[in-house]
This record gives sequence, C-alpha cells and structure tokens, in this order.
Amino acid sequence: MENMKICGLFTLSPEKFGNAFIRLIGPVLLIVFILLISFMTYTYFTELLPYFITFTGPWLGMFITSFGLFLLFNIIFNYYYCIVKGPGYPIDHPDYRRCKTCKGPKPKRTHHCSVCKCCVLKMDHHCPWIMNCVGHKNHRYFVLFLVYLTFGCFFMSCASYLRFSVKPRNNLAHICFLFAVVFFVVLLVFTAWHVFLIFTGATTIELIGFYGDPENKNKYNFSRGSWRKNIEIVFGTKNLAAALMPNSKDLPYDGAYWPDTLHAI
Ligand SMILES: [Zn+2]
Ligand SMILES: [Zn+2]
Repeated sequence: MENMKICGLFTLSPEKFGNAFIRLIGPVLLIVFILLISFMTYTYFTELLPYFITFTGPWLGMFITSFGLFLLFNIIFNYYYCIVKGPGYPIDHPDYRRCKTCKGPKPKRTHHCSVCKCCVLKMDHHCPWIMNCVGHKNHRYFVLFLVYLTFGCFFMSCASYLRFSVKPRNNLAHICFLFAVVFFVVLLVFTAWHVFLIFTGATTIELIGFYGDPENKNKYNFSRGSWRKNIEIVFGTKNLAAALMPNSKDLPYDGAYWPDTLHAI
C-alpha cells in the first residue's frame, strides 16, 4: 500500500493514518461531549427553569426538572461505565481459533479491532466517542447511553423551544435548541439501529457481514428466537424495565461461549 507523508516527519499507510486519527480524536470528542452536556445543563438551570417556575408554577417546574435530572444521571452513568468497563477481551483457551492479525485467542463472535490493536469479545464497532470498542461487556451501557441521550436531546429541544419562542428572546435558549434538535435527529437514527440490533440478537459487524455475503446465510444468526431472550444477552435480564435501570453488575456470561446460537460463524 502506498505510503502517505504526514507533516514530512514520518510516514504512515492510509489505514494506519486513519486508525491513528481515530485514536487521537477520542479525547477531543470526550471534551466536546462534556462541554455540550455542561452547556445544556447550565442553560436549563439559568434560563429555562426560572421561566418554567414563573409560568407553570413551582410543582410542575420541579416535576419537569426531576425528569430532566433522571435523564442526565442515566446519560452520565452509562457513559462512565461504557468507558470504565471496556468491551471485554478473550482469555486464552486451546479450543479457540487464533487471530490472523494479533495471533491471540479468537472465540466465536470475537473480532480484531485495528484501532485498539487487539481482539474484542462480541465486538459491535469501535466508537471514538468512548475511546474504545463496543463489545460484550459494555454493549448494555452503550445502548442505554444512546437511548437516554436521545430522550435528553428531545427533552432539551422541547424545553428550550418553549423558552426561546416567547419574547423577550433568549439567545442561550435559541443556541441550546439548535444543538438539541440536530443531535436528537442524528441520535434517533443511530439509536433505532442499535435497538433493532439487540432485539434481533446481532451486532453491527455480524449484520454487515451477513448482507456482504448473503449466500452464506449461516454466517449470521445469533438470535435466540425471541426479542426477550435477545435482550437478555445484552442486559442480563428479560425484563425491559429492569434493563433500563442503572446496573453496574457484570453479565453472567463470559462472552466467548455461545451454546444457544442457532448458527455459528
Ligand atoms: Zn486479534
Ligand atoms: Zn477498538
């Protein structure tokens, strides 16, 4: 592959340059995320809440604020655990095949991440926003982070619209509305995709692999036959309400052994 010169100081292939860029942009995206959340929280408490209390009364204002704080807590909780837990990595075992790239153990549903430079259990994709892969251990936190962030953006879209649509206009509420609407639309699509995946028991890599090679239908089908059983793999429970609640416990599966799969890769 033809090498690409960067700043004239060193050379990297386009693939390695792309992976290095994804690694470098991670801390920037983390700061962007913290700034956006801080800006929206600040705008809510300084510009929106006083308006709600004036026009809706203190009790309704407190109720709306409590709901907003519930969303904020779940966004931060799931983002934190998504990063801290990590995706999970395979432990060596003589029965496992070996990865062609890193030569490490590669059980079923494990894939090599060229950004992280290692194999990841039940890998879904590499996410620069969390500076890590989404895999077996943090899949739950990633999906919940998306779900609560989507609701949070919808909440802030409505709250800021109510404030900036009345006179005198409020610039902070206006900016907040624009950010919240744009992120809500983008997140809605992304969240719907990931919810669809966990309900069908697949990962992004498995579904793309299936459509990339439709003749080999056995390549993808890790569905357990019902959406309840499929969400249990990701959340450790078949109860949807319990799955949505904050939970720091590890899943009761090792992420390497998949006895119930209908077809295997
Ligand atoms: Zn590997
Ligand atoms: Zn990765």
